[in-house]
Amino acid sequence: MRYNSTRDSGVSVSSAQAITQGISKDGGLFVPESIPSLSEEELLSLVDKTYVERAAAVLSKFLTDFSAEEVRECASLAYTAGRFRSPAVAPLHPLADGVDILELWHGPTCAFKDMALQILPHLMRVSAGKTAGGKTIIILVATSGDTGKAALEGFRDAADTRILVFYPEDGVSPMQKLQMTTQEGDNVAVCAIRGNFDDAQTGVKAIFTDPAVAARLEENGMLFSSANSINWGRLVPQIVYYVSAYCDLLKRGAVSMGDPINVAVPTGNFGNILAAYYAREMGLPVARLICASNENRVLTDFIETGVYDRNRPFHTTASPSMDILISSNLERLLYDLSGRDDGEIRRLMDGLKNEGRYRVSAPMYDKLRRLFAAGSCDDRRTARTIREVFERHGYLLDTHTAVAVSVYGDYRQETGDATPTVIASTANPYKFSGAVLAALGGPSDAGEFEKVDLLHKATGCAVPEPLASLRGKTPRFTEVCNRADMERMVYRLLHIGAE
Ligand SMILES: *Cc1c(COP(=O)(O)O)cnc(C)c1O
Repeated sequence: MRYNSTRDSGVSVSSAQAITQGISKDGGLFVPESIPSLSEEELLSLVDKTYVERAAAVLSKFLTDFSAEEVRECASLAYTAGRFRSPAVAPLHPLADGVDILELWHGPTCAFKDMALQILPHLMRVSAGKTAGGKTIIILVATSGDTGKAALEGFRDAADTRILVFYPEDGVSPMQKLQMTTQEGDNVAVCAIRGNFDDAQTGVKAIFTDPAVAARLEENGMLFSSANSINWGRLVPQIVYYVSAYCDLLKRGAVSMGDPINVAVPTGNFGNILAAYYAREMGLPVARLICASNENRVLTDFIETGVYDRNRPFHTTASPSMDILISSNLERLLYDLSGRDDGEIRRLMDGLKNEGRYRVSAPMYDKLRRLFAAGSCDDRRTARTIREVFERHGYLLDTHTAVAVSVYGDYRQETGDATPTVIASTANPYKFSGAVLAALGGPSDAGEFEKVDLLHKATGCAVPEPLASLRGKTPRFTEVCNRADMERMVYRLLHIGAE
């Protein structure tokens, strides 16, 4: 299996190269040259298997330059040994008739990013062994909250690797900030930026693509890589949990082999729902993919009209991990919808860069409409959904998952489509205690851990240990820098001296 660039089909690299490099030099994203299939027999054979075995079966179809032993070892290191608080790793919670919640937040940082970032460091180590020639890998991350912490936790103390995370000083939740600034490990560093997430992201991209910086790292035996969701090594582990969910539905007798299911996903960068699309392309019986957005409904509008237009106000919402106007991973879907037409993708991405918008062709739009349904939900309805689901089912949703539950409710009402549905749940509610507590009618002027306590009292839901243990912990990383000083900060954190 080789990987091509979405902006140059002539580029052909191994999966190890795609994972170490992160992004193609032409700015395109790496995509598999074809989607491997998963037969009904194979799917059946996974029903009684563990999550590790299911992961190894799916990953080995894509990572063909890894040995079976290497794939198994990576899966086993990531998904066993107590890193996940549920033995099922990604368990289903039956919510109502024909509706299951796929809980993706039992990992060490309580958000779904752990599903990929617990295994990425192992995939990266094996990939680097095949391609990086003994260099130290430097993982550079700009985060609006969840990715940074999950990457820190995944890469902490990984051999021959260092990780640097930049976050906007005032752009993350109090819990997210505390999670990052108290991070342990000998190869980690965290720095706040004066500015917003876009400033952090632009700064990181500038450093990442500057040949002078790359040369300086090279002299010091180092090499940059990316842990953002553009990296194929983050996407492929996410395919696994959709396959695993179907196996669990089969096991429970909720579906028979071949019965279609719908999948609803709270979407930001389009990574999670794209993984569901790939699972479908492999042959998993998925009918509709339901794309849920918050008030930043750029994807809803795109799926409804075929026009992607980022020229609109940016809303700061109660589901901050979905506050995004450029969904990077959509490029991979467009590549497939266009029939793998790299020229067409270059044209669309130029439109996005120069005018902030593009329109897809009629054939692409038709395919898009057949595969996807879409909807959006504002903060008021998100809060109402959290309250109603808790009152009706005794189940506590976080703000992101609530967006998907709400959009799914609209979809079901409008279409009458009663196909069994899996809704991806992307964070534990205690990561966003303030908004969740307010949705249940609690006070908004309490301290962060006071809110945690009040939410616990009101719902009886357990506070995950990784969040509970942050109470009273002293931050280790308190550095704040200006956007212009990020490059110098990188050298300092990597102990690369002045010339
Ligand atoms: C990252 C994130 C999302 C969005 O996922 P994408 O793959 O970017 O679409 C949704 N919810 C939470 C809690 C997240 O951390």
